[in-house]
Amino acid sequence: MEPEKTLEELCAANGMRMTDQRRVIARILQDASDHPDVEELYRRAVAVDDKISISTVYRTVKLFEDAGIIARHDFRDGRSRYETIPDEHHDHLIDLRSGSVIEFRSEDIERLQEIVARELGFKLVDHRLELYGVPLDDDKA
Ligand SMILES: [Zn+2]
Repeated sequence: MEPEKTLEELCAANGMRMTDQRRVIARILQDASDHPDVEELYRRAVAVDDKISISTVYRTVKLFEDAGIIARHDFRDGRSRYETIPDEHHDHLIDLRSGSVIEFRSEDIERLQEIVARELGFKLVDHRLELYGVPLDDDKA
């Protein structure tokens, strides 16, 4: 299997001019596994380079998003969250208590969606699925 391209390589492939600050933000996104929002990205970015402004972070994620090299999610908390485009598709379960985001993939769901689309006369090309839940243990509290 071909190794996954880093965000910096994808930027280069898109002909993007890479400043040091963009590189810092690209690396933070690359390393993140928790779907950070802009404020969180900013917190991590200033820890590396304290000259980075939040508006630079905003502009940079917009640039990456428009280039299609990162994905934006809205998990209903009013904040846009970002992640690199994964090699393998996954869906998200959002824990409404903690706000944490759990990635999953269900072959059953993948197959069912294809069936639904086909029955409606469509070839499925993409989908997004978000599950919202609370931990089962919480019910007993
Ligand atoms: Zn994800």
